Amino acid sequence: MSAHSAVVFLRQALDRAEERAQRLHDELWWIGNVTRIEAFAGDIQFDDIRIHGEGGTRTVSITEAIQRGLLAGNPVDLKRRVAADRQILAEHANDYGDCAACGRPSEETNGRGHHFHEAVPWPCRTVLLLAEAYGWTEEPK
Ligand SMILES: [Zn+2]
Repeated sequence: MSAHSAVVFLRQALDRAEERAQRLHDELWWIGNVTRIEAFAGDIQFDDIRIHGEGGTRTVSITEAIQRGLLAGNPVDLKRRVAADRQILAEHANDYGDCAACGRPSEETNGRGHHFHEAVPWPCRTVLLLAEAYGWTEEPK
């Protein structure tokens, strides 16, 4: 069974996000949660910033800080997000063409007027929105 393009895209994006978070974490450059950033003070060069974090203090150029993604987020937070998104994707799995988790009220009702639930085609809206959050755009039909 071939996967939907949104799901292929999403799986690749999750792998890249996890690798990026791991790289940030492994480079020892990461200093944990940032508590304070200084610039234009004391002995700090004009194009540097001094970052104080739980793991210590580093002075780096503003360019390096941006390139390394320090200001983009804590790798621990990024990894937690990727793990949660993988779980969402796993729970909204392809179940013979329908989403394993989603259902919607059908036209049919029981004797007391309650709607039965019918299956939702896979990939469901949850999976498509998750893929969009990572940059996937729907293909033109
Ligand atoms: Zn679903």
